Amino acid sequence: MIRFSGVVKRFGDNVVLDHLDFTVAPGEFVSLIGPSGSGKTTILRLLMTLEKVDGGTIEVCGDYLSHVRKGDRLGRADEKHLRAMRRRIGMVFQQFNLFPNMNVLRNITEAPVRSLGLAADEAEARALDLLDMVGLSDKAQAHPAQLSGGQQQRVAIARALAMRPDVLLLDEVTSALDPELVADVLRVLRDIATSTDITILCVTHEMQFAQDVSDRVMMFDHGRVLEDAVPEKLFSEPGHERTRRFLRAVI
Ligand code: ATP
Repeated sequence: MIRFSGVVKRFGDNVVLDHLDFTVAPGEFVSLIGPSGSGKTTILRLLMTLEKVDGGTIEVCGDYLSHVRKGDRLGRADEKHLRAMRRRIGMVFQQFNLFPNMNVLRNITEAPVRSLGLAADEAEARALDLLDMVGLSDKAQAHPAQLSGGQQQRVAIARALAMRPDVLLLDEVTSALDPELVADVLRVLRDIATSTDITILCVTHEMQFAQDVSDRVMMFDHGRVLEDAVPEKLFSEPGHERTRRFLRAVI
C-alpha cells in the first residue's frame, strides 16, 4: 500500500507537487500519465527517498517515509529504518543501469546476497526462476553489453523482483528501447501484473499498455491528480478537457 497525504515538493520556486493526495491499495497496478514536467517521476523519486518532501507524509505498507523531510537529520535508527523500507521497494528505470562488469546471473543475485543475506545457491535458484519468467534463461552467463536493450531491461526487471519487493516502481521503462523491443518488455510486465500481488506504480507514455494492464490510471497536471479512474473510463470518456487534449496528443 502507498499513501501520499498532502505531499508538497518544490525545486526552488517551482512547486512540483502541490498538496498531493492519493492511495494505491496492496496489489494494485496504477499507471501515472500526464504531460512532461507534471511531477510523475518526482513521485517515484520521493518513494525511493532519492528526494525529500517539503511537506506532507508518505506511507508505504503501513510505515512512514515522512521523516525524510528536507532539513531533517537522520539518527542511526532512522537510517536503519530507511534502509529497511528501501529494500521493500524495487525500481526499474528508463536506463537499465545493470552492472556492466557482472554477468546476468550475478547482476540478479548481488543485492539479495549482499543486502538480504541470502545464501548464494538460494539467490541463484531465485535468479534462474526469474530469468525463466522474463524469457532469458539462456542468457544467465552473458554480460549486459552482449544483450539488446530489451533484454537488458528484462534483466533489470528480474533484478528488481529478486529482492521480493512489496512495491515496484516503473519509470518509463520502454522509453529508451527500439519499438520492436518494447512488446517483449510489456509482455513481461503484464505477466508480473497478473501473476504477483506486488503493488505497482508505473509512469508510462504507452497508453495502450496503461489501458490494458492498469487497475487504475491517474492523470497528472501541474503536480496534482487531475483525474483518477479505471482505464475504461479515463481513456474512453475522460472527465476533463485537459485529459482529452493530452490523450489526443499522445495516442
Ligand atoms: P516527464 O514525463 O518529462 O518525465 P515528469 O512528469 O516525470 O516529466 P518530473 O520529472 O517529476 O516530471 O519533473 C517535474 C518538475 O520538476 C519539472 O518542472 C522538472 O524540471 C522539475 N525537476 C525535477 N527534478 C528536478 C531537480 N533535481 N532540480 C530542479 N528541478 C527539478
